[in-house]
Amino acid sequence: MPVPKAELHLHIEGTLEPELAFALAARNGVTLPYADTEALREAYRFSDLQSFLDLYYGLMAVLRTAEDFTELADAYLARAGEQGVRHAEIFFDPQAHTARGVPFGVVVEGLCAALDRAEERYGISTRLIMCFLRDESAESAMATLEAAKPYLGRITGVGLDSAEVGHPPAKFREVYEEAARLGLRRVAHAGEEGPAAYVREALDVLGVERIDHGLRCLEDPELVERLARERVPLTLCPLSNVRLRAIDAIGDHPLRTMLAAGLVATVNSDDPAYFGGYVEDNFDAVRDALGLGEEELRTLARNSFLAAFLEDDEELRGRYLAEVEAYGFGA
Ligand SMILES: [Zn+2]
Repeated sequence: MPVPKAELHLHIEGTLEPELAFALAARNGVTLPYADTEALREAYRFSDLQSFLDLYYGLMAVLRTAEDFTELADAYLARAGEQGVRHAEIFFDPQAHTARGVPFGVVVEGLCAALDRAEERYGISTRLIMCFLRDESAESAMATLEAAKPYLGRITGVGLDSAEVGHPPAKFREVYEEAARLGLRRVAHAGEEGPAAYVREALDVLGVERIDHGLRCLEDPELVERLARERVPLTLCPLSNVRLRAIDAIGDHPLRTMLAAGLVATVNSDDPAYFGGYVEDNFDAVRDALGLGEEELRTLARNSFLAAFLEDDEELRGRYLAEVEAYGFGA
């Protein structure tokens, strides 16, 4: 059994495997521009961000009904359970669905039907985080937050994703202020392709509690010191960084440097169907490529639970942390 861990950076739309895409397409009468699952799997071998985003948003056309979202989330949770995930904080992109005419409530109710059974079926506790598409307007993000109001009992926090460069965090200042007023937790993608300054801005202007990716903080030693001192978690996604060319090869990943600098680094899968692996596959990849030892792997697992939004259930966090300490690597 893999080490127990929390997954904190996972886009549910990025878990759509070719087989499920074809099954949903058939059920919903959607024609995909691929001959079969093999041809689609071939398309998943994109080589740059734009071809990834085109495929990613194009395939969402197969997600129409609440049941579709339930099946998508259930398939992820089943795989996550096999990969040692005990707690998952799942991102979804409401605007990517409402823009296609799928109501906000259909998405949330569909996802929650799977999340509600996750504890019993897979032994996984869950949280849901709605992300704003940063290449859309701040007005659109605010309207999305408005649409979320009837469902806030089911939504733990807000995030910010999609194409980073040219869309600095400050663009969403008012939206994040409103989210804070509503009692929502705040995270944001920053410092993946964008500069270290975006990480600072996400902290100072948006008040985020975790940084998604944050790789490029390393270009700013003062920022690294601050992130370590303030214990701001970073949700790293090593296989994603290779596929989207943030780094050239897995062996170049700065994870070990980040741990040595005292950063609260965690390892996650981002969009696992597209990036060549789920969370334990990411653990395996960095362990093998960087030669991480048992204590570094245990630190990563421990960090994932320390960084989780479990303040409403500290007893559960304590149980998970005890599982990490008791885990025997190589057993
Ligand atoms: Zn992401």
